[in-house]
Order: sequence, then C-alpha cells, then structure tokens
Amino acid sequence: MKHTGDYFRNSTVARLEPLVMYIDMNSYFASCEQQRHPELRGKPLGVLTYDGPNAAVIAASVEAKRMGVKTGMRLGDCRVLCPDMITITTHPAWYRQIHVDIMNILRSYCDDVIPKSIDEAVCNFHSYTLVYKDLTSLAYQIKADIAAKYDYLKCSIGIAPNSFLAKVGTELQKPDGLVIITPDNIDEHLAKMKLQDLPGIASANEQRLRKSGINSPLEMRHSSAAVLRKVFGGVVGEYWHRRLNFGEVDMYNRAENRTMSATRTLSRRQSQDRQQLESMLIALCTRLEQRMVKGGLFCKEVTFAIRYRDGTKWEAAVKMPDPVQDANELRGYIQERIAHFESGRSPGCLFNPGTTNLTVVVQSFVKDSVMQYSLFDNRLKKDVLRKVVYEIKDMYDQKNIVRRGNELFSPFVMKDAIGFGSVKDMIVKDGQVKNKHLLEDDEAPGEPRKIVIRRREPPPLPKDADEVYYEYAGPDYNDVDNYHTSD
Ligand SMILES: [Mg+2]
Repeated sequence: MKHTGDYFRNSTVARLEPLVMYIDMNSYFASCEQQRHPELRGKPLGVLTYDGPNAAVIAASVEAKRMGVKTGMRLGDCRVLCPDMITITTHPAWYRQIHVDIMNILRSYCDDVIPKSIDEAVCNFHSYTLVYKDLTSLAYQIKADIAAKYDYLKCSIGIAPNSFLAKVGTELQKPDGLVIITPDNIDEHLAKMKLQDLPGIASANEQRLRKSGINSPLEMRHSSAAVLRKVFGGVVGEYWHRRLNFGEVDMYNRAENRTMSATRTLSRRQSQDRQQLESMLIALCTRLEQRMVKGGLFCKEVTFAIRYRDGTKWEAAVKMPDPVQDANELRGYIQERIAHFESGRSPGCLFNPGTTNLTVVVQSFVKDSVMQYSLFDNRLKKDVLRKVVYEIKDMYDQKNIVRRGNELFSPFVMKDAIGFGSVKDMIVKDGQVKNKHLLEDDEAPGEPRKIVIRRREPPPLPKDADEVYYEYAGPDYNDVDNYHTSD
C-alpha cells in the first residue's frame, strides 16, 4: 500500500543540529496504575495481563525494577526477587486515555509528532528553529505539563540530530531523564554502551557484528557504510550507518496499516472450555472488523494461528475471493479451514485444552472508496448497514449500545489489546480521536473492576475475580518498529 501521509522526512544527508526530541514514558503501565491508585505509589508493582501463577509481568514499577524485576518475567521468578510485589491486571483504556492526553501536550508545541508506541513519541523540530531557542528548556516544560495533568508520571527525554539517537538518549537516563546527544558528545555516550544497549540490536545482530570484529556501539559508528552493509546484508546496514552518523531513517509515520492483528492468550481454565475458545475467535474477528470499519478498509487475506502449551502451532492463511470486512465472514473462512483440517482427524482436535494463544491477522487491504461490487450480490447493503451500526455506536459514545446477534452471547469476553496497531487508531485529528472505542473500558458498566492484590504465596484466584484475558502487547506482524518496547 502506498503512503499517502505527509510524513516523509527521512534524510540521507547528515543534519547535525539536535532538533529531534524523543519522549519515552517511564514504567508506563505501572505508573498509570499508580497514578490512578495512589495507595500503590512508592510500592513494588507488577502489571499482569492476566492473573495466574504463570502470568508474566508486562510492566514493573520503578520500585519493583530496583529489586531486579524485569519486563516479561514470570510471576514466580518475580516473587523470588521481590516477595512483596503487588500485582494488578491491565487497564488498556486508561493507558490509552493518558496516551491521547500526552500526545495532545506534545502537539501543543509541535505539529510534527509521531507516536511510536503507546508510551513513546518523536517530535521533529526542524521547522521550529525560529520558534524555540532552546529545546532543553522546552523539554522541562513538557515534563512539567505532563506532571500538571498526571503528577505521578515521569518520562525520559532524548534530544539529538535524528530520531534514533534521540531514542538512545531516552535509554541513557531513567527515570525522569533528559539527555542531549550532539556530534560533540556522541562518542562519549556510545563509549559507555554495549551493543545490546542500542535499540534494535538483540543477540542475533550482536553476533553478526562481533563476527565482523565490531564489538561496541562506538566501533559500529566508526565502521564504514560498506562494512555495515556486509554485516547486515544490504540496505539495513546502510540504515545503521546513517542512524549512528546523523542521517534520518526512522522518521515516518506508518499512518496506513499493512497488517492488523488481534491476539489473545488464554488461561488454563479458559482453554478447557471449547465455547470460550469459539467466543474468543468471534471477539478477535470483531475487534479487527471494528478497526477495519474505522480505517475504511477491507482485507483480502486472513491468517489464523493457534499456539499450544507444548510449543507447537497450527496456522492457516486464506486468500479470500472478495475483500472482507465483516467479522462473521472472516470467522466463516477460518472455520472452513478448521473444519477442513479436522475432517479425517478427531473433531475438535484444534481447539483443544492445550491451547494457549489465538491470533487473527488481516492484510492485503483495499480502501472502501475503491471497492467494486458485483451487480448480483447484496454486499453493498450489508457494508452500508455495518457502517451505520458503528456510526450509531459513535453517536452514543458506547460501543455496546447496538450489538449484532453474534456479539450478544458474551459481550464482555474481550478484554482488549494494548497493541501498537491501536496507537495508529488513536491519532487525534481536529481534537477527535479516530477510534474512540479504544478509550472505553471493556468491563460491563456498573461493575467496577476488582483489583486482586497479592503478596507472597498467591492464594487461589477468587471465584468472583475478573476473568483472566490477555492480549499480546507487542507490535503488529511485519512491523519494522518492533524494537520499540512499552517499558
Ligand atoms: Mg517507556
């Protein structure tokens, strides 16, 4: 799909002035919870996507991090390091609301703001050199503005000649950091870093670099583009050379989605119940339908994957004869594949109790404005009706005010995602959030969420506790932004 947005400011020419500002919220999900629940402030806190002994902490508060808790750690391992850690399950709508408010603060100073994830954004001040004499004092002002609205939230700010180095600046000082990287001090900063400290360099890339005799970020910066091309196999190496030498390759806003995905991890209890698995599938398709309607998109390909506890996986990709937006149709194609696979095997073998994770990915999008309809089917009417249903939901600011039959039997089954994809749907235009439903809570109205607070040996989950849904907080498939974490 071609980019039609106005965000293309990558530059092959090195621009040396530090005019790019990167903002990274510190321990974002945990701080949001501490903002909302003052009784949790100053305490070690782990945010979980679901509550269970095998749950992983997707965000840890500063206090928990001090005890050695890291993002992604299993709850059991966290307890060894930090026996008093309090846990809380995620509250995506709240994190998104704060995201929108922070983006609005940034946009009050700069038109050129690109959200990079739910807790990160980059501001390009290249056209503001006459407006702001000093980006350092502006950075302090931004911190103060955020603190005025959310007093418990802290951010690290990096200022540098390009967005990659500005992000590196945010990594150098946490929490509440402010680091300015310039051509004069860059080598000094890089000298303190290890290869894997660079965003985007994990073990595989580190090995590649070391094989070529490049053992540190400093050596990497002073390697020629030709050498890095050889290390990374082509243009990717060229990009790395530019990143470290003040060119710009990361300043883009993928305003148009190439893929949309919805994923859910299931607790052991949920995977015992085939009905639950079926409703998850509906919920995932409905979530994608909602995002496609909002984006004015139809998809021509859908992929469905099931992962199992033993590490195996079943996957089916379907190319559809006509572009599809409807959740039921999507589910129909998926179920057809499931039925086809299960025929001749034991029925129900795919949705079995070993299931841990369901993922639906849609891609190959067609814009609704260029959809072609056959003369002989009534798809057009159905498509119009779907749009109207969503408009009614919008009008009443309540996504469950109108529901179709298939949404009815378990309307709150879907505790939703904190994915990167949804950040794109929250882009604010003319003061309006593109997809307002993402700011609504998924819990039933009038039923406040129960917080399960646990210390030391976790007791069994109370029977009336919230359901334990989980949605992967990672990037969209094929998303080259995947080195951005939400930490
Ligand atoms: Mg962060």
